[in-house]
Amino acid sequence: MAIIIQPVQWVYLWWKVLRSFKMTPLPKRKVSSARRDRRRANDFLTPNNLTVCSNCGEVRLPHTVCPNCGYYKGREVINVTKEAKKE
Ligand SMILES: [Zn+2]
Repeated sequence: MAIIIQPVQWVYLWWKVLRSFKMTPLPKRKVSSARRDRRRANDFLTPNNLTVCSNCGEVRLPHTVCPNCGYYKGREVINVTKEAKKE
């Protein structure tokens, strides 16, 4: 006596097979070259070049007045103590 599987049972078995499949997560669409390049734009940033102040020895950005002592190129440009008092 052969076992006859009803069509309803076939559907049920097929569903079991389908649900047992676990597809790996895949990107929905291709990443465009513009988007890829925008993402990579920040990958190779170089840190700011810092120099040491000749007056006080504080680390500062080049070509800027020292925020610590207010000196630039060996002369006082801003009076840091007065600026601090005003605030
Ligand atoms: Zn300085």
